[in-house]
Amino acid sequence: MELLIVFVSIFLSSIALYYIIKYAVRNGINESMLASDEQREESDDDTPQKECPQCEKAHDFDYPKCPHCAHEYETLK
Ligand SMILES: [Zn+2]
Repeated sequence: MELLIVFVSIFLSSIALYYIIKYAVRNGINESMLASDEQREESDDDTPQKECPQCEKAHDFDYPKCPHCAHEYETLK
C-alpha cells in the first residue's frame, strides 16, 4: 500500500514539474524584467553602467548605492 502512495506522489510531482517548466519557458521572454537586483547588476542589457568610486566595480546607473561595497552616492535632490 505504501508503494502505491509512492507511485502517486511521483506521478503528481511529475505533473507539477511539467507545469512549472512550462510556466518558466513561457515567461522566459520577460526574464530581464523579473530578474532581481542582484541578477540585474550582472546583466548585459542596455541599462547604463557606472563605476563605483570606492571599489571600482561596474553596476547599473540607477542604484542609490553600490551593490558590491554598499558605498552610498550623494543624491543631488
Ligand atoms: Zn562599490
